[in-house]
Amino acid sequence: MTDSTDLDELLIAHAAGHLTEAVALVVATHLCLCPESRRRYRIYEALGGLVLDELGPEDVGAVCRARLFAALEEEASDPDCACSDPGEDPLPLPLRPYFSTRLAAAGWRHCGAFAELPLAVGREPRAKLRLLRLEPGASVPAHGHEGLELTLVLEGGLCDRDRILRTGDLGIADASIVHAPRAETDSACLCLMVANGA
Ligand code: ZN
Repeated sequence: MTDSTDLDELLIAHAAGHLTEAVALVVATHLCLCPESRRRYRIYEALGGLVLDELGPEDVGAVCRARLFAALEEEASDPDCACSDPGEDPLPLPLRPYFSTRLAAAGWRHCGAFAELPLAVGREPRAKLRLLRLEPGASVPAHGHEGLELTLVLEGGLCDRDRILRTGDLGIADASIVHAPRAETDSACLCLMVANGA
């Protein structure tokens, strides 16, 4: 499970278009993988649209109800966009435009039991956004953060403090947190990470 308070703040900021491109890409990828976040995101989008429409107070009730019900009804026909072909790289749709080669042929930096692949997004520094691949049981060295760090598990499981993040789960760490995330012992783990101010 994901920290719902922080995650909701991210979803609201994403719906309002307030996130940087790199952070927005991580949140969009999480939305592809998490039906519950998609359901909440549609509600935030609907509520945000109401504000933009600047409707009079007498109109908000009916329109709000209609939009919320429409948002909730979309869930029944809501397809996720995760890769379902086992022969392909495990990349959800939002990430695929950023890769011109197969993952195995990309320019990974190997650091012992883990490897990282910096990604270029817009005009933001390459080091801010990266894929991280951990061998089974491997840990990221203990570290703190100068800003927000998001870790989205794309494949495998990641033990982060008292939680186990699985495919689609989003770990949120801020400047108050020191941690050393570790892959579960029975499988490798592929993550998408972004750090603001780190
Ligand atoms: Zn961290």
